Amino acid sequence: MKTAAMAPIGGERWTMGREAGAIVLSHALPKVTYGKGGASEGAVEIKPLCAILAAIMESKKNQAMEEKTLFQKIADREIPAEIVYEDEWSVAFRDINPQAPTHLLVIPRKPIPSIDALTEEDRMLVGHLHLVAQKVAEQEGLTGGYRLVINNGPDALQTVPHLHLHLIGGRKLSWPPG
Ligand code: AMP
Repeated sequence: MKTAAMAPIGGERWTMGREAGAIVLSHALPKVTYGKGGASEGAVEIKPLCAILAAIMESKKNQAMEEKTLFQKIADREIPAEIVYEDEWSVAFRDINPQAPTHLLVIPRKPIPSIDALTEEDRMLVGHLHLVAQKVAEQEGLTGGYRLVINNGPDALQTVPHLHLHLIGGRKLSWPPG
């Protein structure tokens, strides 16, 4: 039987193939066949398969909704914030407890918990976040300079486990930071 991997459905890997004119879907679950003119002898109807897939997708969706970070909720506009910029990959909004006249947070929509959790896959995204910071700094008129800070882990006092760049400016900043 010739098989081909399908795009993941609800995060699950399925394989699709053809066997004697029938389409066969395989997974960890028993083989399910739907052939010419309906379900073939000994095969499971397609309806229960759809119900299984729907249940998998629903449970994945619920899981994702339960596990949303505070900043994901802001990005999805479930929690109010003053959003100053957004695009397909990132969002920038004002910090609720500003440490300077301008204090923005630039976040990826992807819920990466911290710098430690970055992978090769995030290479472009991390660069993009910096370009967004540059753009919003200009938007905010920070011509005299600004500081980008990423707190990583408990020793750095990271409090929200969703990667974020603090963009701080609008006054002369001291160094070193505390
Ligand atoms: P960090 O300590 O580096 O994890 O920074 C988290 C930042 O998120 C802090 O500066 C908080 O003031 C800010 N923050 C927390 N909750 C909100 C919120 N609902 N809206 C905007 N900023 C927030």
